[in-house]
Amino acid sequence: MGHKKVCFNCRKAFSIYKNPSDEINLTCPECGIITTLINHKFRPPKSSDIKKWKVAEYLKNSGCFFHHVYEKVEDGSYVVVPYPENMSEAEEFVRKYKQNLSPY
Ligand SMILES: [Zn+2]
Repeated sequence: MGHKKVCFNCRKAFSIYKNPSDEINLTCPECGIITTLINHKFRPPKSSDIKKWKVAEYLKNSGCFFHHVYEKVEDGSYVVVPYPENMSEAEEFVRKYKQNLSPY
């Protein structure tokens, strides 16, 4: 398991490689602001894709840390819920899965 630090200012994600004893340096290497620690499953959009970054930022601000969210389906098994691609999907996603969106 790992995390990425994500800079919503530069619209970039940086993988973190660390030993358990290391302190994580959350400063963005490019702009110097404090980045957000997000699950390694987060797939950063292209830096030019501002709309998708807005969606990601909205999800982050709603308490979503991009771990897998599961939904129970008819046969009783669980499926991974796909992450929303646009803002209206994102609002629906947060409304529906708010209680599942605990960090990590
Ligand atoms: Zn930055």
